[in-house]
Amino acid sequence: MNFDKDRYFLEMALREAEKALIENTYPIGAVIVDENNNLIAKGRNRVHTQQDTTAHAEVDAIRNAGHAIFNAKVKGEKFTIYSTLEPCPMCTGAILFAKIKRVVWLLNDDLGFGGYKKIKDSNVFEKKFKEIELIEEPFLDLKTKQKELMSKWEDNENYILNLRKSVK
Ligand SMILES: [Zn+2]
Repeated sequence: MNFDKDRYFLEMALREAEKALIENTYPIGAVIVDENNNLIAKGRNRVHTQQDTTAHAEVDAIRNAGHAIFNAKVKGEKFTIYSTLEPCPMCTGAILFAKIKRVVWLLNDDLGFGGYKKIKDSNVFEKKFKEIELIEEPFLDLKTKQKELMSKWEDNENYILNLRKSVK
């Protein structure tokens, strides 16, 4: 059977994003996989659940991967990170530090905090970005699902504009 690994793992990341929304935090999920398609770690946004503005899905997945990340760096193994949204500048930095070699995401975030492409296109850390394969928005149906999660998030009490309204 021809196993579409990107689809399989992006669906897994999407389930993490759904869990995050149920937990009343940003609906973003991430999954790290090794070059043989073994699952290394899952992560999801925990900004509101842990009251930590740095607890983004990609950072959570990298933290959960623990020793495996160092092992892969030492051995030069090719890990992939799947995220449901384009990584922000912080997560882009974390991906560079983790030496992840392949980045796949479901939905671009040009108007939000999406940072990966902006930093890559600025040719800063050009050499590091050249080592990373990038795949953006490979599946229209899954992209639509992430878009739906993002619009549901805007109705959540923890969405920033709703929080601001509540303090006025
Ligand atoms: Zn981030």
